[in-house]
Amino acid sequence: MSAKTSKTKKQTKKSKMTTACQKCQGKCCRYFALPIEDPEDWDDYDDIRWYLCHENVTVFVEDGEWYLNVKNKCRYLSEKDFRCGNYELRPHICRKYDTEACDLTGDGYDYELHFEDDKQMEAYMKIKFGPKVFDKLNPKSKAKKKKK
Ligand code: SF4
Ligand code: SF4
Repeated sequence: MSAKTSKTKKQTKKSKMTTACQKCQGKCCRYFALPIEDPEDWDDYDDIRWYLCHENVTVFVEDGEWYLNVKNKCRYLSEKDFRCGNYELRPHICRKYDTEACDLTGDGYDYELHFEDDKQMEAYMKIKFGPKVFDKLNPKSKAKKKKK
């Protein structure tokens, strides 16, 4: 779930759980996504490339907004019954989220862009800034240029 959306929680008592949540293995509790500033220049894109060097991190663009997505399960999601182990004190964002268009019941995501690792961002940066975009990171190529 992203910090801009909301989520209610699968409830501790099975009788209170929605049918959708009963069938779900807690999809919405297995990641979080935070909006990040739109990249404007080479440095901004390279910072995002750095995020993407990390495991279990992706970056996506939806409705023109950039998000950092951390694919990391909440410590309170039980892998036995897929319920919340912190139900009484679950954060507000979990309380607001509902099953109307959630990760299980919704139409899925309509990403304009989705980067799953740094290599995908490298390829994007080469298209955006030109094939020599990373030359400045390599002192040898600079030295070669100066010799000419
Ligand atoms: S993704 Fe939807 S159905 Fe699954 S636990 Fe979350 S709110 Fe319930
Ligand atoms: S606190 Fe509970 S409802 Fe919120 S993400 Fe964790 S397991 Fe899910």
